[in-house]
Amino acid sequence: MSARILDGNALSAQLRGRLADDAAALAARGVQPCLAVILVGGDPASSVYVRNKVAACEKAGIKSLRFDYPQDADPASVLERIAALNADPAVHGILVQLPLPRQFNEKAVLEAIAVGKDVDGFHAENVGRLSQGQEAFFPCTPHGVMKMLESAGIAVKGADAVVIGRSNIVGKPMAVLLTNAGATVTVCHSQTRDLAAHTRRADIVIAAVGRPRFVTGDMVKPGAAVIDVGINRIQDGPEAGKLCGDVDFASVSAVAGAISPVPGGVGPMTITMLLANTIEAARRVADKR
Ligand code: NDP
Repeated sequence: MSARILDGNALSAQLRGRLADDAAALAARGVQPCLAVILVGGDPASSVYVRNKVAACEKAGIKSLRFDYPQDADPASVLERIAALNADPAVHGILVQLPLPRQFNEKAVLEAIAVGKDVDGFHAENVGRLSQGQEAFFPCTPHGVMKMLESAGIAVKGADAVVIGRSNIVGKPMAVLLTNAGATVTVCHSQTRDLAAHTRRADIVIAAVGRPRFVTGDMVKPGAAVIDVGINRIQDGPEAGKLCGDVDFASVSAVAGAISPVPGGVGPMTITMLLANTIEAARRVADKR
């Protein structure tokens, strides 16, 4: 194996130490950073994500409020809760864990969150601000990827970057952040012809596909940086139940110059950027007082 490992746990520990100092400083100014988390239904993966987010908040000195609703919850009751949290000056960030059950209009729920409390960065106004290069809450996963690249000293300006995936929460904002940082970006998806032809000439490959070990060593240029956003649970065979990414770590790490592992790569960085956005939201409130 030749690739340098981009350790998201180590970088997160370093960043969260600083964020805890920031949270303490804000509390000393009379503003206790506070994140409200809404979880609807009992999806096991969502429950784990919410538990991890709440635990990370507590550890960093961010107060967290958790609101759990059953799978058959009335969307109106969740919207009422969001309105109450929007109006509560002690709450700085609001996160609704996705996906939501079928009876919900996900877009309407995300748009109901006050822009200044939208620490997930999914509100259309934050998305628009991001695309115009204005100050905004950046979506946590792509923001975490940018921090990883930056801290590893991987040059983005002028680089050829390929993002595999065009979802609103990962692929599209990832492409915008890379573009804003000066990369030449190609976005690939399920309709892309000859995906490997694109990835093979990329200096940076970001995989956000949702398919286990999809990117293999023969698809990667020697020395490229490969960031694995995927979180997949292997269904069958001897490895059943194990987590793996969208990148085939064994073959890609033999070719790439740098690679992020799963677990321990982008996952912890996503939570770290959520903490950062919540503290930033609280700082804006403190600065206005
Ligand atoms: P989505 O399912 O919303 O999007 C997947 C994207 O991959 C789509 O744009 C789809 O294309 C594309 N795609 C699917 N098959 C292919 C293919 N054969 N060739 C090329 N492109 C393909 O997933 P998300 O963006 O929400 O998540 C992606 C992965 O990242 C998942 O594993 C998810 O669990 C993980 N994730 C991890 C996070 C973290 O904190 N580390 C946070 C969020 C997600 P099309 O649009 O044409 O259908």
